[in-house]
Amino acid sequence: ATHLVWFRNDLRVTDNSALYHACQEPNAKVIAIYIATPTQWQTHHMSARQAWFIFQHLQQLQQNLAELNIELIYQEVDTFDDSIAIIETVSQQRAVTDLFYNKQYQWHERQRDNALLGQPAMANVNCHAFDDSVFFAPGRITTDAGKMYQIYTPFRNKFYEHLQNNVIKVNRKPAKRQQELLVELTALKPFSYPMQTSQYAPIGEQQAIMRLQQFCREEVDLYLNLRDFPRLSATSELSAYLAIGVLSVRQCLARLQLERPEFTQSKSSGAFGWFNQLIWREFYLHLLFIYPKLSKNQPFIDWTKRVQWRQNEQDFVAWQTGQTGYPIVDAAMRQLNQTGWMHNRLRMITASFLVKDLLIDWRRGEDYFMSQLIDGDLALNNGGWQWAASTGNDAAPYFRIFNPTTQSKRFDIDGQFILKYLPELAQVPIDAIHEPHKWAQKNKITLNYPEPIVEHASARLYILAAYNAAK
Ligand code: FAD
Repeated sequence: ATHLVWFRNDLRVTDNSALYHACQEPNAKVIAIYIATPTQWQTHHMSARQAWFIFQHLQQLQQNLAELNIELIYQEVDTFDDSIAIIETVSQQRAVTDLFYNKQYQWHERQRDNALLGQPAMANVNCHAFDDSVFFAPGRITTDAGKMYQIYTPFRNKFYEHLQNNVIKVNRKPAKRQQELLVELTALKPFSYPMQTSQYAPIGEQQAIMRLQQFCREEVDLYLNLRDFPRLSATSELSAYLAIGVLSVRQCLARLQLERPEFTQSKSSGAFGWFNQLIWREFYLHLLFIYPKLSKNQPFIDWTKRVQWRQNEQDFVAWQTGQTGYPIVDAAMRQLNQTGWMHNRLRMITASFLVKDLLIDWRRGEDYFMSQLIDGDLALNNGGWQWAASTGNDAAPYFRIFNPTTQSKRFDIDGQFILKYLPELAQVPIDAIHEPHKWAQKNKITLNYPEPIVEHASARLYILAAYNAAK
């Protein structure tokens, strides 16, 4: 038998369901393939940093597989449709008997997999698909009536109930195959896609595992107390790995359980708080699978389609470039532009600002985030944006509008985060840092920093009227 493992969004050898199962039969020949699809990525707004991060991990994967005597075939085509033909050809040329892959839940990805299975050339190939990027397969955590939860907390409670009846199991890295690796390792040709280096997260599966260990051992207890302060590195910073599958959610939960066996006992513990965020991830992935419209630029709540968004290019560019005159928003956008990552609290603040202060379509913000984020993930990004825009499941109600200045004073108390990204405010006293224009006016000083492009209090009324009209 010849087993072909198709790597997509799961660039790791440890706890990789498809690879693990492909290696179960000792006598089977196992080969692997990865197909880059730059034109498709462009339509998904993948960031140059994420492309770079994927490429680095692909090189690692090639090495790690070679150590198991498994060859990695690497191809680049334009689109998902083209990748189908590659799988067919390789299956024929290599006399593949079984294809193994981990499922992806986005609409395009699912269409591709369905199309592949329908090809005559695949009729004699057994296909084995796994729910690997989630802990429970989408559709398993349901109400008693078998429906997907619309609200997060009961989803989490049910998830938790199921978890107690399941062992958190991580599949080990497969053993070295007896087969010989007949090909020399050749350097992979960089993707024909913009790639930008990033210092954000060290490269490698082992690095991700080490960071996970360190976080669960040394930092998780303080997570709930500190996670909302962008100046601190008080979150796991594992999202970039999770987004491209260098690390699995099972590895995260298993490690959490190992280090904090009591993590489910107290909802106020840091460990439970972190668990909760991982389940938010699960919630959004399940929703994406169950509601294809979420992959298709549509809001979950239908009436929000009628909101009349403003088309103000100047405001949009000010938001993108961190020039709105709201220091917390601007520092956050510059963090995103400079590093490819943004703190969760700031993602909420900046998203809310774009939608509920500028009344600009949340989808423009969603796309822009994807184009910059190293951890860009359709399910989580869409979930976060629809939450902020009040268009999604269990979203913030539309009449609840973040006040960016209040948020700034609460979560960047001493202005240190702002100052890190807005050095032009260095002369402003800390107690005036959240509203520097007021201080500048009072002291007749001209700052090299814009005045607020919008006045929050009046924008708030305007936005409420727009949502009310749509409703
Ligand atoms: P931690 O706080 O350590 O959390 C651990 C993991 O849990 C994260 O790595 C992530 O996988 C998951 N998680 C954490 N917070 C959330 C959340 N609010 N919703 C769903 N899952 C969560 N996350 C992405 O990975 N990719 C995105 O493209 C993305 N876009 C977002 C857009 C908006 C508007 C908002 C509000 C949030 C978005 N998030 C996204 C969620 C969250 O901001 C990041 O996952 C988090 O900041 C990553 O940092 P961390 O790994 O240190 O997280």
